[in-house]
Amino acid sequence: MDQSQTPTTPHVVLLSSPGMGHIIPLAAFAVCLTRHHGLSVTLISNTITSNQQSLQDFLSSNQVELLSLEDPNEPPPSSMNLNVESRIWQIIASTMPNVHSKIKSIARTSHLAAIIVDPFYLDALATAKELSIPCFLFFTSNCMVLSLVYALPSLDEQFLDQFCNLPEPVQLPGCVPIQGIDLHFAVQDRTTEVYKEFLCCTKRFKEVSGVLVNSFGELEPGPTKGLKEFEAMPPVFPVGPFIRTSSTSPGQENECLRWLDQQQHGSVVFVSFGSGGALTWQQTKELALGLEMSKQNFLWVARRPNDKESTAYFFESKNMQGKLDFLPEGFLTRTEKVGLVIPDWAPQLEVLSHPAVGGFMTHCGWNSVLESVVHGVPLIAWPLYAEQRMNAVLLTDDVKVAIRPKQDNSGMIGQEEVSRVVRCLMQGKDSERLKLRAQELSHEAANSLEGGSSFKNLLQVTRLLKSSVI
Ligand code: UDP
Repeated sequence: MDQSQTPTTPHVVLLSSPGMGHIIPLAAFAVCLTRHHGLSVTLISNTITSNQQSLQDFLSSNQVELLSLEDPNEPPPSSMNLNVESRIWQIIASTMPNVHSKIKSIARTSHLAAIIVDPFYLDALATAKELSIPCFLFFTSNCMVLSLVYALPSLDEQFLDQFCNLPEPVQLPGCVPIQGIDLHFAVQDRTTEVYKEFLCCTKRFKEVSGVLVNSFGELEPGPTKGLKEFEAMPPVFPVGPFIRTSSTSPGQENECLRWLDQQQHGSVVFVSFGSGGALTWQQTKELALGLEMSKQNFLWVARRPNDKESTAYFFESKNMQGKLDFLPEGFLTRTEKVGLVIPDWAPQLEVLSHPAVGGFMTHCGWNSVLESVVHGVPLIAWPLYAEQRMNAVLLTDDVKVAIRPKQDNSGMIGQEEVSRVVRCLMQGKDSERLKLRAQELSHEAANSLEGGSSFKNLLQVTRLLKSSVI
């Protein structure tokens, strides 16, 4: 406990499901609550493992108590054949009794003011009810995706067919039109368990006291306003962007920063598909050849291809990591003067804040998007899974800070197309326009947190929490 925190300081428990995409923004949010809003915080997570030492240090140096539940690298054997969402649901279900008793024990020794959960932890609503405290949701994506969540129960009743067969794009309030195929991956096949779980989860959103969104009003003015049109839904507070502040740890990661130091200002396109994204073998080859064809400088975090699952890298076995044997023959030698390829992982935050980086080819995971926006880096939107296609639509059609490569009839992004979008991002008129827009958003993001719209929204929530325990 910080010296400024006393036993009567209002306490908040945050719950984060497995996956860096959730723990990272929740950790940053937790620190903001202790540093700027006079609350004490316990973060309960399944994710923290030894290789995330920097995150643990970040939390403990900011007086956030961290309770780790289990090592997610060892999923129960029965979950091996499930998709990523179902695996997470399964892990959460197995840890819920433990979480429940941990929260109750915290409540016995502190002034517990609220539980704040990520969308996978809605089962904690029962704990909050038992303790007669509010339960808020921390939505790790954006307002446009939240709008789909709010709209889904009625879309489900309104349309019988698969959404990808709808003749017209879906029009969510205040959002740009979205083709059915670009909606969240979980709603693409309405016959699956994943769809049913997602729909069931969206209906439970109604029960929370409010939704804190990791986005900011200036990034999404239309969707933020549009959310007010839903009746009988919890109030929405865009409070972001919350991103991690550092991702460095010793070892190879520093190699790419040293390499970037030698490149010209704004000359490098950073290519990375998040913590779990994987491309097919053919797509990896097309990407490699397209980067080479573009003749632009690149830094590529290359992952072992997988023909079955775009989320495969989340479950990649450790002994297959660290290798680059899947790249086209001679590629590394031919591109050694313009590019650096590193296996598995890069210190993304340090890379995006490096002056040599002028663009980011990303899978559009929301954390990656926010990190790019905060650092004023324009994007190539190459979505893979989850809600990333919606993020791509938001970034290209609405926010206009990204370009999106076109897939051919087989769903492939060919090498010529890769080369075209990379050149477009890095050179010429479109590049200038995208860079200016990215810089503008970077300023707006900072202002929003420093006394602007996000700060005010969070203040409103924390005042409410404090008044509930007095
Ligand atoms: N990340 C990183 N290095 C990598 C890949 C990912 O530091 O090589 C971090 C990235 O900065 C981001 C998070 O992992 O904070 C990925 O979250 P995101 O929401 O973008 O995608 P997800 O991995 O959840 O699909």
